[in-house]
Amino acid sequence: NCVLPSTHVNSKHVMDVYTSFTRLSLMSFRLKFVFGPCALQALDLVDQRAVTCLSSPSGRKAFQVIGGSGRLYTCFVSCHYCPCPAFAYTVLRRNEGPLCKHILAVYLCQSMGVTQQESVSDQQIHVLRNERQEC
Ligand SMILES: [Zn+2]
Repeated sequence: NCVLPSTHVNSKHVMDVYTSFTRLSLMSFRLKFVFGPCALQALDLVDQRAVTCLSSPSGRKAFQVIGGSGRLYTCFVSCHYCPCPAFAYTVLRRNEGPLCKHILAVYLCQSMGVTQQESVSDQQIHVLRNERQEC
């Protein structure tokens, strides 16, 4: 039996909720398909607003992501680098492409416009970059 919504239920609202739910599931599904299980953890980080973009006067950028354990990871999207163990692991398994939940969270936050912004000096960015020799 098909139960139709009664007339006093705002069916447009129901449709809106349904549409956003479908979109969200579809997005989670796509992310999971493309990026594997780290996608859902990355979405959690986005939810927690765990990504901060540090930018210097000369336009250099670094991203700081607070991981699930509360550890702070400094990622450089420009050279595609994160210091976490998962990243090192995917770099070794070259067929998967280097990606971890932190870098994915940075991309997601950037595309949704929910990155926290922080200004730092060129000196500070320089110090962060020096910790990562190859960048
Ligand atoms: Zn990472």
